[in-house]
Amino acid sequence: MEWRNIPEPGPGELRLRVLACAVCRTDLHIVDGELPLPLLPIVPGHEIVGVVEAIGSGGTGHRLGDRVGVPWLGHSCGCCAYCTSGHENLCDAPRFTGYHRDGGFASHVIAEAAFCLPLDMPEADAVRIAPLLCAGLIGWHSLKAAGEDARRLGIFGFGAAAHLVTQAAIAQGREVFAFTRPADRTTQAFARSLGAAWAGGSNERPPQPLDAAIIFAPAGELVPAALRVVRKGGRVVCGGIQMSNIPAFPYRLLWEERGLVSVANLTRADAKEFLDFVREHPLQVHAKTYPLAQANEALADLRAGRIEGVAVLVP
Ligand SMILES: [Zn+2]
Ligand SMILES: [Zn+2]
Repeated sequence: MEWRNIPEPGPGELRLRVLACAVCRTDLHIVDGELPLPLLPIVPGHEIVGVVEAIGSGGTGHRLGDRVGVPWLGHSCGCCAYCTSGHENLCDAPRFTGYHRDGGFASHVIAEAAFCLPLDMPEADAVRIAPLLCAGLIGWHSLKAAGEDARRLGIFGFGAAAHLVTQAAIAQGREVFAFTRPADRTTQAFARSLGAAWAGGSNERPPQPLDAAIIFAPAGELVPAALRVVRKGGRVVCGGIQMSNIPAFPYRLLWEERGLVSVANLTRADAKEFLDFVREHPLQVHAKTYPLAQANEALADLRAGRIEGVAVLVP
């Protein structure tokens, strides 16, 4: 823990008092130095629920006391080819929360007002809402990339994003097949308790071929494993920001019009769509809370796979 002065918001910015900030695997990649680090030192954390405490000049659209969410996309340029075609998640000059600017593992945070998501919720819900802001949103983006016609959906790596996307997929009438580390019966039971039709090891075959699969675990060897269980014309979506090398695999696993794609970041439109969906279909969030001073313990538990669901820091 480090003590700093409470920061003042600049033009177009808000200062938030942090109510809760969920811990994402990307925070772990940042802390472990597995991603290039543009700014050091950096306060990680990009699944922030906070209360607006101060408004910089021109920080329109929010009032003091409003609850807002701050996700990974903290800024986009608004003028590149991606921003102007509705793909601000791919912006050429983005700024990510907890990566290019200080994030939410803190008591207070400064965020760009235009990228703060209005949250119509009581303060008491902060712990439940925070994990929706990356785990939920990236899960939602991955689910869309899997395709609307993917009725039988495989999910590889059953952590924070998977436990939310499973519930969203089932609410949409899909069937979920959960793949965990081989013999990880505890996580398989967790997946079944959330409604998964089948749960097994990543070395097992599901009872039927799947229409699509999403990979959340950062393990490249899951790419051929997932291609092996999707049908002709099916899709494999990689949902993580980082993955170990993908081993060589025979072309026949990809042949017959199987597709392999990745998803990156989020757009504000995705966020609005997902938060509207969650209002209609509330998701059970399995959160384990930690006091802010125990951020390192939360990261260690995530690294060791000791968290069922998601870790959330509370200042
Ligand atoms: Zn994240
Ligand atoms: Zn842009």
